[in-house]
Amino acid sequence: MIHDRTPPVIQFVSVGLTYPGPPPVPALLPCDLTVGRGEYVTIVGPSGSGKSTFLNIAGLLDTPTHGTYLLDGIDTTSIKDKERTSLRGSRIGFVFQAFHLLAHRSARENVELAMIYQRVPRSQRRARARAALVRVGLGHRLDALPTRLSGGERQRVAIARALVTEPSLLLCDEPTGNLDTATAESVLELLDQLHRDGATIVAITHDPQVAARGQRTVSIRDGRLTDSPAEQVIA
Ligand code: ADP
Ligand code: MG
Repeated sequence: MIHDRTPPVIQFVSVGLTYPGPPPVPALLPCDLTVGRGEYVTIVGPSGSGKSTFLNIAGLLDTPTHGTYLLDGIDTTSIKDKERTSLRGSRIGFVFQAFHLLAHRSARENVELAMIYQRVPRSQRRARARAALVRVGLGHRLDALPTRLSGGERQRVAIARALVTEPSLLLCDEPTGNLDTATAESVLELLDQLHRDGATIVAITHDPQVAARGQRTVSIRDGRLTDSPAEQVIA
């Protein structure tokens, strides 16, 4: 990281969001946060602390009311909505608690759809979807419908879909929230593996055990984001 001249994936400079109200709700107080390429950061906080607000900003689903957010060095706070949408599609892969797979499409079709939005040529989509599913351990379930897959397998499909467009950032919102303990562990092991392979991961969770999987944990409470001392070791 020390010799890496590429800009950080996430750089928050006094980023905050106050919902207008009335009354105004300061859901995320102005904060600084840097996530370097290849880092695995977890954001932990109780319900109502501002986790979704953080995720929406980091994922370019919402624009902060304060500060500047640089994604891969690009100032996302001064660009048009259309550019923000395009940046989101090309640079961010989302993994949600509830998987959000299309029920009547196979695992491979679900993954291929992510590439249609990114205008990946049809000739490449099949092979890339297969490779992404093989990478998450589902090479034998390419044609299965989500209803025929277990919760853990569904989340693997969702992870394959998030990764297939090679995003800069994998943004996970309670990635194991719908899974039993053993299945959750296998999904967390997959995230560990992806991190070892170079993925930049930010995972949001209320679960301290999930949070402990990150290289570094940032806590959030009443909209106040506090970086852990471990950052100094990495930086
Ligand atoms: P978490 O995801 O940690 O549960 P949120 O980020 O969803 O927390 O919410 C943080 C705070 O912002 C809460 O007090 C919540 O009630 C408030 N909030 C969330 N969305 C809105 C909104 N659209 N308008 C007003 N207040 C909101
Ligand atoms: Mg939330």
